[in-house]
Amino acid sequence: MNCEKKESCGIFGVYSKIGHSVSFRIYNGLVALQHRGQDSAGIATSDSKKIRIMTGVGLVSDIFNRESVESLSGSIGIGHVRYPTIGGCTKEDAQPLLVHSPKRGIALAHNGNIANYSKLVSELSIQGRMVSSSCDAEVILHIFASAYEQTHDFFNAAKICMEKIDGSYATVLITGEGDLVAFRDPHGIKPICFGEDAEKVIFASESVALDMNRMRLGGFLAPGEVAVVSKGTMKRKVVLQKQPAHCMFEYIYFARPDSNIDGKIVYEVRVELGRRLAKSSPAKADIVVPVPDTARPAALGFSEASGIPMIEGLMKNRYVGRTFIMPSQAKREDAVNLKLNAVRHLVEGKRVVMIDDSIVRGTTSRPIIEMLRHAGAREVHVRITCPPVVAPCFYGVDLPTYSELIAANHSVAEIAKKIGADSLAFQNFNDLAESIGLGDKICAGCLNGKYPTKTGEELAKKLKKEGGKLKGCRIWEEELG
Ligand code: AMP
Repeated sequence: MNCEKKESCGIFGVYSKIGHSVSFRIYNGLVALQHRGQDSAGIATSDSKKIRIMTGVGLVSDIFNRESVESLSGSIGIGHVRYPTIGGCTKEDAQPLLVHSPKRGIALAHNGNIANYSKLVSELSIQGRMVSSSCDAEVILHIFASAYEQTHDFFNAAKICMEKIDGSYATVLITGEGDLVAFRDPHGIKPICFGEDAEKVIFASESVALDMNRMRLGGFLAPGEVAVVSKGTMKRKVVLQKQPAHCMFEYIYFARPDSNIDGKIVYEVRVELGRRLAKSSPAKADIVVPVPDTARPAALGFSEASGIPMIEGLMKNRYVGRTFIMPSQAKREDAVNLKLNAVRHLVEGKRVVMIDDSIVRGTTSRPIIEMLRHAGAREVHVRITCPPVVAPCFYGVDLPTYSELIAANHSVAEIAKKIGADSLAFQNFNDLAESIGLGDKICAGCLNGKYPTKTGEELAKKLKKEGGKLKGCRIWEEELG
């Protein structure tokens, strides 16, 4: 069994009202969303007769070239980038996924993670619908296709999906007959925004993908909202809404700082996180140094609020990918040294406040601190913009289980010792919520163990009872084995 079906990805969908080919727009959108997934990518288009699809493993620019993008003809389409997971991914798991009926086929892509995946796979197999990939997008696709066959209504089909599926899913799909549909789970866990002008409608995980296509941000799908673009007209309807629970990790780490997620500019949230950290956990230091790139706006905020100058004392090699793709702990540590370099003449003899976005396993902080000391830093005080991550995520953020989460098993003082920091402080929950500014409309399951869905709660309980990892898989994946 493939242990990796977690899907924290990027999605894009476009409908040209004037019949123009959309494949280059999708390509642009996927390049803008590349930070959300470097494992695989794919594009599906429809010319109202047939769906064309191309997927591959790797970066968008490695998979597609001018000819292949051009060959994807059609005036509506969707695209997907898939997040890297330990153990890699096969082409079969790349999205969009396709079924051949009804309506000359449906191609679908989603961002999120289905928490009750195994239950739904069993239900589908009883109905004679076999799930052939380890992608949870296939489950959404089967449920949607079968619901559409019965109801002949996109809104009802999406509503049936929402009633059955427990988890996070920002979804885009096209039909072979030329419709574009987008929907967001009833808690709105994963982001999806849209824009519309006289010529086109676009949906995307993040607003940067609209910017890239010179499209103004029109809004965000509400939790439980469905948008259907058919015959050149968009209709939107909330079909099932529960307590909103937007993933706070989008603001901490995932999203690009130039994106607007659910009405909040990620850059501004991060600057504010830094300002508040400076007030709640000041440090006596000479310079503020961000761990690039995510923590840079926060370091600016910290510097502004503390009056300590921000210096780029750590430089990043931009050709090395995100360190989480490294399969083992040792390799992840090596990767830190490949990726970052401390600038001796900037940090030598200085007391440094090092700002980073999160500590998950606690692997990367220690070598970075060592690197700063090796370059002559006199003291290293670590300030983290996210509160301690103490619980797993069942909704698509690739966080490990309790046993691997350093903050689930150690006090702040113990973590400081383990990573070799002179002092360590995390953001407090209140300041996090205030910085995001969405009140109680955030999902912080990984910080407080309170999950917005029933299956999330059940899985957390089971996971605690059975002691975390089973045979190298996470428990909700093991259930399938
Ligand atoms: P760790 O070494 O496990 O503590 O990793 C923490 C670092 O990994 C943080 O500085 C983040 O920049 C990054 N990170 C945090 N969460 C994730 C995630 N779900 N996927 C990839 N990278 C992450």
